[in-house]
Amino acid sequence: MPASSALGKLYLVGLGPGDAAHLAPAALAALQESQVVVGFRGYMEQVESLLSGKECVAMELGQELERAARAVAQAQAGRTVAVISSGDAGIYGMAGPVFRVLTDLGWDGTAPEVEVVPGVSALQSAAALLGAPLMQDFCAISLSNLLTPWETIRRRLTAAAQGDFVVVLYNPRSLRRTTQLLEARSILLEHRPASTPVGLVRDAYRPGQRITITDLQGLEERIALVDMVTTVVVGNSTTYMQGGRMVTPRGYEEKAARRD
Ligand code: SAH
Repeated sequence: MPASSALGKLYLVGLGPGDAAHLAPAALAALQESQVVVGFRGYMEQVESLLSGKECVAMELGQELERAARAVAQAQAGRTVAVISSGDAGIYGMAGPVFRVLTDLGWDGTAPEVEVVPGVSALQSAAALLGAPLMQDFCAISLSNLLTPWETIRRRLTAAAQGDFVVVLYNPRSLRRTTQLLEARSILLEHRPASTPVGLVRDAYRPGQRITITDLQGLEERIALVDMVTTVVVGNSTTYMQGGRMVTPRGYEEKAARRD
């Protein structure tokens, strides 16, 4: 293991969806190089075989800022630290709390050194398992109103619906947040047909992976299939189903040609 640099190093590592095959080699190298690994317990277990001999700091939901501060402090002390997220650390991940802490400290960009290591985000995993739904402009919207006011999320849903974006919904539904996905569905239905394909990908590339294809109409009765380990992909007005796959054609004309 390389000795820690005098300045310390902080890696923000995205682990990908869950299995070793989709963990990027650069993420693996960053983990191997780190002396301290900080992250949610579940993600720690995901990379357990890589953690022997390292100091592990497990965190619970709600401890993000505190753990980010601890990780920064360790790096400032000259150690090499990895803060791990599922998917990509910079997409609804731990990069946020870490940069918040760095900002509060007036970080100068060098001490500690910070490197964000990209990972395969849930939208890419879900899209790959569904087919090719993201071939035109798309957007990601998190339905969690814990950190973002619901009114803001509603406004973004409306804009995405009006703009005919393919929409990827993160954090779609939890035990306590049960109404948001239905409201998102209603907003989308104001601007696209009930037959618009919808893909539900649960636990992508993890044991128990489940892929469900429905449409905006059918989403209502399948709502119980959606939870916090699910990513929802809603097609745009050109998205179609072929051979059980969800496909958005590369261009708007292509669909017209296909139908003729
Ligand atoms: N940083 C992560 C996202 C964290 S937000 C990333 O880039 O993927 C958490 C949300 O991500 C979950 O509620 C779910 O919507 C989605 N998600 C993360 N991993 C997933 C997986 N393996 N399968 C399906 N959805 C996943």
